[in-house]
Amino acid sequence: MSILVVDVGTSGLRAAVVRPDATVTAEHYRPCLPDSPMQGLVEFDAGAMAELILEVANLALAEGGPVEAVGIANQRASTIIWDRATGKPIAPALGWQDLRTIGDCFEAQAHGLRLAPNLSATKVKHLLDLHDPDRARAEAGELCFGTVDTWVAWVLSGGALHITDATNAAVTGLVDPASASWDDHALDALRIPRAMLPTVVDSTGACGTASVLPGAPPITGIAGDQQASLVGQGCVVPGPAKITFGTGGMLDRVLGDTFVGDATRNTGGTFPIVCWREAGKLTFGIEAVMLSAGTNVEWLRDDLCVIPTSEASHDIASECDTTDGVVYVPALLGLGTPHWDYGARGSLFGITRGTGRPQIVRAVLEGIAERGADLVIAAETDGDAAIPILRVDGGMSRNPTFVQALANATQRPVEISPIAEATTLGAALLAGMAVGTWSGWDDVAATWRPTTTVEPGDATDRDRWARAVDRAKAWHPELSGIDF
Ligand code: ADP
Repeated sequence: MSILVVDVGTSGLRAAVVRPDATVTAEHYRPCLPDSPMQGLVEFDAGAMAELILEVANLALAEGGPVEAVGIANQRASTIIWDRATGKPIAPALGWQDLRTIGDCFEAQAHGLRLAPNLSATKVKHLLDLHDPDRARAEAGELCFGTVDTWVAWVLSGGALHITDATNAAVTGLVDPASASWDDHALDALRIPRAMLPTVVDSTGACGTASVLPGAPPITGIAGDQQASLVGQGCVVPGPAKITFGTGGMLDRVLGDTFVGDATRNTGGTFPIVCWREAGKLTFGIEAVMLSAGTNVEWLRDDLCVIPTSEASHDIASECDTTDGVVYVPALLGLGTPHWDYGARGSLFGITRGTGRPQIVRAVLEGIAERGADLVIAAETDGDAAIPILRVDGGMSRNPTFVQALANATQRPVEISPIAEATTLGAALLAGMAVGTWSGWDDVAATWRPTTTVEPGDATDRDRWARAVDRAKAWHPELSGIDF
């Protein structure tokens, strides 16, 4: 009763077979980087992505099959429009990081819509404005809009399925947040015809057949990457939260089955999310965002050239016990939750003649950990419930200095995921629950087996941290004024 997972990330995609003991096997990865023709523009070739999806899926099945079902996990909000008859994309797809629709976002505010440019909503409008300005083709049902999960399901079903799961639909900016169903007001304001929209389906449950794959297994699980990682780390009841520390950092937690908070952004700077939909019923949660995490380590490695590899940041930081008062604010792209200040910039404070490489490297790791604590506090405030324990995955979760700094800054035990990226496992758990590989949420929670639990040591100086953040804010006041 193994599960095939197709997991499409921002920089690459993989297929793997997950066994009933929750081990990930037969993994096949292909890089699939988006293009950036100009700063702020991010596009990708969905046709080329489709070929790679089929290649890795077939390789994983040949090595690890047969399977009982298929699960899908994906980068969220990226936007594809294709011709329903030919299955060919009508234009390059727009990646979630693409910023070309900022103007449309401001215009949408006139209609009472609060949309950030990373959501799909204005990307669909933009592609239609260029390629179907009077919306005739879209109205006639000749065009399909989809996010990446939609595209994977379309490709695996040979064009029979045009669906998206509720976790993905909820980050398009085109749904009513309390029901995760398409919202007429947003659709009318952006002139997006309903005929081009996918059907919103459950995140766990049968939704079609991967008919082009050997054995034609059913597709029974779909979730956006952060939600899949949440499930993969067993955070399926209110309480524990997970933070994925990759290039950026995302905290997610489950709250319950009632929608609370603002439609777009909560007061503490977190976002409401759909964690999953099962038998038509939604489970809600919240997400807190750190715009740059591992990116700061890449800066040390590739620009300052003070560490040879990202991993080496642990050894080099270990050459000192303390930064001797040096504080780094990792605001290379501005600050996300709770500040939402796009004009903030990375800052180093407290440097003296005695500050050396170990202190700087440690300060960078500790600064990212302090940002992690900012996210925890925001998610506790907006979620109105404590987070007693943290679970971490992503590249930085492999760094012992960093994880200890996180435990210290948050004053919570931190459990480390046995798999660096829990996304694939989460998609398998969602798909496997629908076919009985795992009997339900308790069974899913029981698959969580952290490699280590790191206990907090002495508390960090959060007042000093707050002062440093204040000084890093509004470095570019004109950018700090932007809000979506
Ligand atoms: P993504 O999925 O966002 O591409 P990953 O989860 O693969 O990211 O993590 C990659 C990021 O984590 C990079 O920015 C890298 O610098 C950082 N990273 C990876 N391993 C380590 C490590 N051992 N210590 C510190 N940073 C690391």
